[in-house]
Amino acid sequence: MLSSIMDQKILQAAQQELMKHSWDTFVGDPPPGAKKGSVVPGCPACRKIIYSDNQYLSHLAIDILPGILDRALKATA
Ligand SMILES: [Zn+2]
Repeated sequence: MLSSIMDQKILQAAQQELMKHSWDTFVGDPPPGAKKGSVVPGCPACRKIIYSDNQYLSHLAIDILPGILDRALKATA
């Protein structure tokens, strides 16, 4: 149970950050010589290609979580 207003602010910021990311599709970078890229599965916010839910979880855990924790820890320091 989060008690203080500070904790709730940190939680809110973390949730907002997490919700920026989704497993969707986006138009990838064109390959050399091509004019436009093809639609690929992945996180549109980061333009990271993701093929499985496992990779999506790794994206959140490895790419996103450290930044969230870093900010949360700095906020409480
Ligand atoms: Zn992302």
